[in-house]
Order: sequence, then C-alpha cells, then structure tokens
Amino acid sequence: MKNLLKDYNKSDKEIYEKEFFNFLPNKIIDSHIHLWKMDFFNKAISADRQKSNPFADPDIIEGFTFEEFGFVKETLFKDKEYEGIFFALPVKEIDLNLANKYVADTCKINNCYGLFVPSPDQKFIPDDFFENNFIGFKPYPDLTEYSQPDDFSKLDIDVSIFDFISKSVFNFADKHGLIILIHIPRKGRLNDQRNIIEIREIVKEYPNAKIILAHAGRSYCYTDIKDSIKYLKGFDNLYVDTAMINSYSVNKVLIEELGVEKVLYGSDLCVAALKGKNVDINNRHYFITSKPRTWSLSSNEMNLENFTYFIYEIIRAIKVASEDIKLQKKEIENIFYGNIAKIITSILKKQNLKKPTLSY
Ligand SMILES: [Zn+2]
Repeated sequence: MKNLLKDYNKSDKEIYEKEFFNFLPNKIIDSHIHLWKMDFFNKAISADRQKSNPFADPDIIEGFTFEEFGFVKETLFKDKEYEGIFFALPVKEIDLNLANKYVADTCKINNCYGLFVPSPDQKFIPDDFFENNFIGFKPYPDLTEYSQPDDFSKLDIDVSIFDFISKSVFNFADKHGLIILIHIPRKGRLNDQRNIIEIREIVKEYPNAKIILAHAGRSYCYTDIKDSIKYLKGFDNLYVDTAMINSYSVNKVLIEELGVEKVLYGSDLCVAALKGKNVDINNRHYFITSKPRTWSLSSNEMNLENFTYFIYEIIRAIKVASEDIKLQKKEIENIFYGNIAKIITSILKKQNLKKPTLSY
C-alpha cells in the first residue's frame, strides 16, 4: 500500500494510549483483513470502478502484504497481540488461484488462518484446504458473471446470495463447521426482504456452518439495520463483523439485539489504515477522508489534518456502544478476541489440527 501510515502523528499515538489502550484487551483477533499483491491482477480495473471502489484507490490497489500488516499492528496497536484472519481481495480482475495461494503460504509460514475465496460456481474444494490453513470461505457478489458491471455503482443489481456461493461451498462448510463470511448483495441490504429470507434459509439449512455477515450486513447506517435486526435474532450460527462500521448506534443495536457473543471485531484492513470516517447522512452512507479521494466526501480547501484512522473510528464506535450498554470487561474482550477464538478453536478441534503457536 502506498504511503502506509505516512500520516501517523502524535495525536494518533495519544488517541491510542489515552482512549484505547486500557479499553482493548491484550489479545485481539481481527476477523476481516485482505492480503494481496499487485502481481495477482490479470486485467486492469475500469476507470469507473476505480472511482467508486476504495480498494481500487491508487494508494491501495498495489496490495497489502503480511509484512505491511505487521507494520500496521506495531504502529497502531503497540504492546497488544494483534492477530488476524486473512483473505484475498475478492475482485473479478484478480487471479483467484494466485491470490488464495498467497494467503495459504502466508498463513502456513506465520501460523495464522485464512479464508478461501471461492469462485461463484466452485464445484470442488481443494484437497489441501486444511493443510493450507483455511478455516472457511470469503465468497463475494462481485465475482459473479452478471454482477460484473464496469460501473461499480451497478453492483447492487439483483444478485442472490445463492448466485455467488455454490452448494459445494455450503456443504463443505456445514460438514466441517467452517466460517462463511458473507458480503450481502442488493441495494436494499438488510432492508431487502430477499436477503433476509436467504440468510435465514442458509443458517437453518447449514446449521454447522458459522455464517458471519461482513460489515454487519453492510449496515453502515442505523436505518440499514434497525428494522431488520429482528429477523436475524435467535440463530446459534449467525454472527456479524464490525468491519468499517463507524456508527455507535449500529453497534448498540447489534450488541443489544443479537447478543454480545455474536459480534466479532473486524477492520477491513487495509482500507481501515486510511484516515477518515464513515458517516450517515440522511440515512445514506458516505466515506469522508482526510485526503480527497474520488470515492469520498472531502475537500482540498479545508484543513482535515485532525482526522484519525478508520480503524480507530471502528474501535471508538465499539467503545462508545460498550460504555452506553455498560458491558463487562469480559464481554468487551469477547468482541475483540473470545468470540472468534471460540469459533477458530472449534474448527481446529474438529480437524484435529495442531494448535497454532499463536494464542487462539
Ligand atoms: Zn472486506
């Protein structure tokens, strides 16, 4: 990633030390980290998509390596054991074999775990799946044939969850109790009843799979989730991650309605290593960034130096919700570590995989 944390300053250090250090547990597992290299692209991303997709930003597109992740955790999470679950960048322009292999190699060398990005019609699961330290899947709507508009804003056209997750993936995940991290499709997000029907069908049909809704079902705004959350309650195997959620009210609803044990801390690195914030304006989500970008609201004229990183805003939004709800220390620890550690441990046990040297 270009200019990674070049804008790190004294005030970021102070935020971490004064606001977060005592709030965060010593061990953290970030459930949502993308790793890839520029070499994995086999075609260029169209200009339109570049404009609207943060991952296609010129500062980001070149990749995010495990070494860069190491630099982020050393800089932003000093004196914490910050680990992650890693997966490729799931875009149609990337060679998925190369991208999945990089995650596998990285995880094997560094004793960590990854999610396999399947193709929408994945028929066979590779024989070396577990050998490659995969503990689940990260399917993505953008990989389907008919959701490949060059205009990224058209991505929300009618793609069903079943269009980008194959039966083989569901069956394999169910058989082995694996994670499926789902980025839900459709413009209406959780307010689209079809998504709700599909999610409920999946959690019932595949009770052993651990279904995690990425970005809490893309709920960056309170209105994305406040009415629909009731349909997601009461399922043992349904979880949400907090990747790029900067809204205290969204977190509050998640914790209060789903239960604190269903909320998993995730960041969406490396986008979260930019300075900015997700905001909710008139029930729509916008990115605001300190540096003007084509996909964000920002200004060359204003002095926006006072911003901090998205990843700190994610944690701040969890902290404010936790304080409001008066969560116990143990419950906070579970959001950042215990809940996902429990899932990882159950998967490893089932496979009789050796316990990693890390602290899961
Ligand atoms: Zn992501």
